[in-house]
Amino acid sequence: MISVKNVYKSFGELDVLSGVSCEIKDGEVVAIIGPSGSGKSTLLRCMNLLEVPTSGEIWMDDSLISEPDPYMHPEVIRESNIYKKLAQELEDASDDSSVIEKIISERLLRGFQGFAYNKALKAIREGFKLDINLARRQMGMVFQHFNLFNNKTVIENLTLVPIELKLKTKEEAEARAMQLLERIGLADKRDEYPSKLSGGQKQRVAIIRALAMDPKVILFDEPTSALDPEMVGEVLELMKSLAEEGMTMVIVTHEMGFAREVADRVLFINEGDIREEGSPAELFGNPKNPRLVDFLSKVL
Ligand code: ADP
Ligand code: MG
Repeated sequence: MISVKNVYKSFGELDVLSGVSCEIKDGEVVAIIGPSGSGKSTLLRCMNLLEVPTSGEIWMDDSLISEPDPYMHPEVIRESNIYKKLAQELEDASDDSSVIEKIISERLLRGFQGFAYNKALKAIREGFKLDINLARRQMGMVFQHFNLFNNKTVIENLTLVPIELKLKTKEEAEARAMQLLERIGLADKRDEYPSKLSGGQKQRVAIIRALAMDPKVILFDEPTSALDPEMVGEVLELMKSLAEEGMTMVIVTHEMGFAREVADRVLFINEGDIREEGSPAELFGNPKNPRLVDFLSKVL
């Protein structure tokens, strides 16, 4: 469903992600855990291009969501002027892998691309690139601080985007919204403003707002971290029911109990890279990476 391929992300001098690769499969629930500041949110935001990766690629099924990264395409590198120059110097012309490797490892493309290279890169973009707005529609996002439109009512929050994008008529969008509100027991709040809702109610509305777009996957960034403890349960229950229905979910969370119970797979991130991944039983029961052992000793 989602493939993160060798993604680097820097903010100025700060390297936040350093070559992250992971796959999220159809129907999978993947929890991302790790210390504060380790790059969890940045990784999640790169998945739907709220952050643009510095290099590397993001794919959804067979579509490229990020810009193509030329260093990941030998067929593009081969068209570059620097490749042609280096290949000429090569004794055995049938073995080009060392040239490709040199160009990748020394990042030699800049300034030496040329016309054929640009054409090859364009072919990848035209062949695989999915419009980012189309891609985002298929990826719901739930944030720590809900991000509801505070000047819109609950029903407006749920129907605004589907109507604006002409995905549904007003009647269809409202019917779907009411069905979802009934599911979470908040049908009577349809005309309230978010300020009248509790944190747990707001977050559950934010989750069904994502669902109302019929996404292929929902990305959650610490959905319960801003909630009073007594409201965490209702949000986790809703997420658990989505997981049971087969929704593909990526969840950055500090709720280790929830990750253990609901996730199919857990990724541990530290200092911008995935240091360990596995089933909850493996990761929590038999952690191997010393940083993970240390992290778990603090949070469990
Ligand atoms: P986590 O979610 O694991 O706590 P983040 O991905 O939010 O970590 O942040 C990782 C690092 O990147 C932090 O040092 C943070 O300050 C920095 N960072 C995140 N977003 C930005 C940004 N837009 N500009 C500059 N630095 C950022
Ligand atoms: Mg974060």
